[in-house]
Amino acid sequence: MAQKKILLLSTGGTIASVVSDQGLVPGESGEQLIQTLGSVPYDVTVKDILQLDSSNIQPEEWKIIAEAIYRNRNDYDGIVVSHGTDTMAYTASMMTFMLQHINIPVVFTGSQVPMNVILSDAPDNLQLAFAAAASLQPNIYLAFNRKIMRGCRSVKVRTTAFDAFESVNVPPVAEVTSDGFTIKTKRPRTDEQCVLNTKIDTNVFLFKLFPGFDPRLLRALAKHDCHGIVIEAYGLGGMTYIRRNIAAAVGELIKQGIPVVATSQCLYERSDLTKYEVGRQALVEGAISAHDMTSESAITKLMWGLGQGMNVQAIANFFATDVAGEVTLD
Ligand code: ASP
Repeated sequence: MAQKKILLLSTGGTIASVVSDQGLVPGESGEQLIQTLGSVPYDVTVKDILQLDSSNIQPEEWKIIAEAIYRNRNDYDGIVVSHGTDTMAYTASMMTFMLQHINIPVVFTGSQVPMNVILSDAPDNLQLAFAAAASLQPNIYLAFNRKIMRGCRSVKVRTTAFDAFESVNVPPVAEVTSDGFTIKTKRPRTDEQCVLNTKIDTNVFLFKLFPGFDPRLLRALAKHDCHGIVIEAYGLGGMTYIRRNIAAAVGELIKQGIPVVATSQCLYERSDLTKYEVGRQALVEGAISAHDMTSESAITKLMWGLGQGMNVQAIANFFATDVAGEVTLD
């Protein structure tokens, strides 16, 4: 049987890092990663598209990555993207929106320790990503520490441990256990064509509410050309209203045409603005619930929606739509 054709797009990150006077910096090519990995049962092609620490991966780089995936999607059975772990969940989430109905599996991976260091987690993660790119149904994934997660559900939860990512609010799509590579969940297939749409609006703001937050700062955002906000509110979505009325400030912004999305600062489970008075006030003012989305998914979905020219109502409808498995709607 012919080997599956897999493309490795390398972008930098710890996996490709080397020691320098300034600390770890990306310095190895994708070809060097493959050489250290050794033989794999796939027909692998490598393209270096970036060489950056992922703290420097921004919307300009998202466009480069999305275009590279789109250009190559019909020539390979799957694509692996090696990427720094720090912003990998943001990039994987944004790819979910920029490359809707992708026709092959695209798997992001990286490591906590560089590939060229003995006992690194990089070989395992890269092997896992190749296996996922060769066998999963089309979608955007993140492979790390024997787990494959939907990109738009993954969050970096540890700074140094090998188990750095979690699939939040949904089980991992696949895992490696003593039974081998086990696929656990599938989404219904669609026959829709993949569309590349990299238009986004980056004039957005994501912040975590804390006791004492001055709502005048929210109003100041509107004066500084902010087009949309995600608030990590308390618990199910509560916002302060005595003395410092956050809910009222949210209402003022929404009246000015600035959508405000409420997520929870709890990592797990959903937000539900209907349950408490402190959530309902924000809901009455027009706050949009992110349900059980990650903050990474919520901010990238907002950027993408605004980039399409959506107004407040259209953004509200968009957040009530499951694009690629990023949200569980009741
Ligand atoms: N700072 C690195 C990066 O995100 C961390 C890593 O890759 O693990 O590029």
